Amino acid sequence: MRQSLVAGNWKMNGNREDSSTLLEGILAGMADIKAEVAVCPPAILVPLAVEKLAGSSVKVGGQNLDYHVSGAYTGEISGPMLKDAGCDYVIIGHSERREYYGDTDELVARKFEAAQEHGLVPILCVGESLEEREGGTTEAVVERQLDAVLEQHGIEAFKNAVIAYEPVWAIGTGKTATPEQAQEVHKFIRDKLAALDAAVAEGCRLLYGGSMKPDNAAELISQPDIDGGLIGGASLKAEDFLGICAAAS
Ligand code: PEP
Repeated sequence: MRQSLVAGNWKMNGNREDSSTLLEGILAGMADIKAEVAVCPPAILVPLAVEKLAGSSVKVGGQNLDYHVSGAYTGEISGPMLKDAGCDYVIIGHSERREYYGDTDELVARKFEAAQEHGLVPILCVGESLEEREGGTTEAVVERQLDAVLEQHGIEAFKNAVIAYEPVWAIGTGKTATPEQAQEVHKFIRDKLAALDAAVAEGCRLLYGGSMKPDNAAELISQPDIDGGLIGGASLKAEDFLGICAAAS
């Protein structure tokens, strides 16, 4: 049985003061939460999150990494650095990285590998744009994004990875995929993994991301192939984030 996972992607938001308040709010509401919970703050706030969450079950993740280990890569942060700071997870291939920072499928595959090499669980984001959905190429796009990793690292790499299906048209827009639309793509992803290795497919957690809120989370997460959520906007308010965690519990 897969334990559900709710991960908050804070994106480029927060300072030490409001992040402390947010983390305290999350901790205060964790007693009844059975889902696994993680927060992914901006890198500069990772040490604060690790310190505040010490002794709790809430995990910390990065939002991106550079696949090099160290060296002359100004402005970048490596897998070993995230691990050393106390991260367990790292988001890889978020659509904002793909769109604004040139994260190609090939680069995403290298980052995925670097994450695992350095003891981090990658949360691999895949998903189609509105144009691609309307053009009927959703599955082809998701398949291409998955193949980039599968062809380089094989199905074994998904033994210890999470996949987040995030339709780009639903991210930060308030438009959520219907539970049926989301389930359809999640099933497509699981079937694709299962064609290569049924046990890996069965164990791999597939999250939905895209305007998930407390009032739509339960219906989405109750779909058979949806194992939790990657949450942007709603992860910045403890009450909303906890509402989603409760729905996933
Ligand atoms: C995200 O950025 O991963 C995301 C799902 O954002 P939002 O929940 O704000 O749509």
